[in-house]
Amino acid sequence: MNKNSIYGLTFNQLATWLLEHGHKKHRASQVWDYLYRKRVTDFSMMTEVNKECKTLLEENFAIQTLSQHVKQEASDGTVKFLFKLQDGNLIETVLMRHKYGLSVCVTTQVGCNIGCSFCASGLLTKTRDLSSGEIVEQIMNVQHHLDNAKQEEKVSHIVVMGIGEPFDNFENMVDFLQIIIDPKGLSIGSRHITVSTSGIVNKIYEFADTNLPVNLAISLHAPNNELRTKIMKINRAFPVEQLMDAIKYYIEKTNRRITIEYILLKDVNDHIEEAKELAALFEDKKKKVYINLIPYNPVDEHSQYQRSAQESVLAFYDTLKKNGINCKIRQEHGTDIDAACGQLRSKQIKQDKGKTVNQ
Ligand code: SAH
Ligand code: SF4
Repeated sequence: MNKNSIYGLTFNQLATWLLEHGHKKHRASQVWDYLYRKRVTDFSMMTEVNKECKTLLEENFAIQTLSQHVKQEASDGTVKFLFKLQDGNLIETVLMRHKYGLSVCVTTQVGCNIGCSFCASGLLTKTRDLSSGEIVEQIMNVQHHLDNAKQEEKVSHIVVMGIGEPFDNFENMVDFLQIIIDPKGLSIGSRHITVSTSGIVNKIYEFADTNLPVNLAISLHAPNNELRTKIMKINRAFPVEQLMDAIKYYIEKTNRRITIEYILLKDVNDHIEEAKELAALFEDKKKKVYINLIPYNPVDEHSQYQRSAQESVLAFYDTLKKNGINCKIRQEHGTDIDAACGQLRSKQIKQDKGKTVNQ
């Protein structure tokens, strides 16, 4: 039987579990120190934890439930990992290098049911949610990769922007956030964490109410219902007006800035009119929004979409700026590898299937 990942337990959950199994609560501090500071990969390496406790942990949990299937390194230092889960499913994790630190993009589900028309992740419907442990373990595996390179580098930023809709796996995602911000463990600064959603309105309210001080990004991609429904079918369930109400609530409740993501698709949503409409949408929230203009990563299966021309991108950006909107054009990473989110996984699955057929 597959064991659960020990990374899925919050500190208090582990302490309580140890207490219930006849061990002192302080063992939890020792175990967390081995997991997150010394970063061991096997229970036998926890030399100062007594034998009985080690055996008990080993019988009930696993430290490594993911195995590396593929690793691609780009010339700019971006590393894309494809991990195999215990049930054989594949997920993607990306390490990116920035001036301000190292960020990891994590996956939250095997596939995605939202099915946005431009996205490679939505090509394969959701098989299952990832557990909180499987999400934390992606970061640990990347950190182990850095530890092995012996450059003393540490993951400092997290973006929840890999495969899947994090708000469709809400509880595990919240547990995951609680685990990684804990100062006793990975201690990732909450302001260094961004969760991105396609706009599941009811969950935006719920997320604001958790009071977790992490950043929220909304994938808007169009300033009106007609266009947004064409690009993202989720807009039928949660149209722009409802999304704007939820954004207003989030800003008022948390007093934090919100990021709006806007992929620029050639001749689809990249005209000056849309830039003006977008600026008007946020007219009364100028100080509280930041718009990220994202260059589209073409996906073979979605050949109806192309990347916007550089002049259109700059004109769109200028229009927003002229209207007083904070915005930037997102810097790209790993363009010489399968950079689009979910693309490496879908290609690998096709390739693996091909192998099985040809054998
Ligand atoms: N499901 C969540 C988080 C994962 S997608 C969401 O949709 O927000 C993370 C971001 O990558 C989203 O803004 C998404 O729209 C964007 N994205 C997806 N496919 C892309 C592509 N081919 N090129 C550029 N951005 C893409
Ligand atoms: Fe899912 Fe996000 Fe891709 Fe849409 S953009 S299909 S919500 S992963």
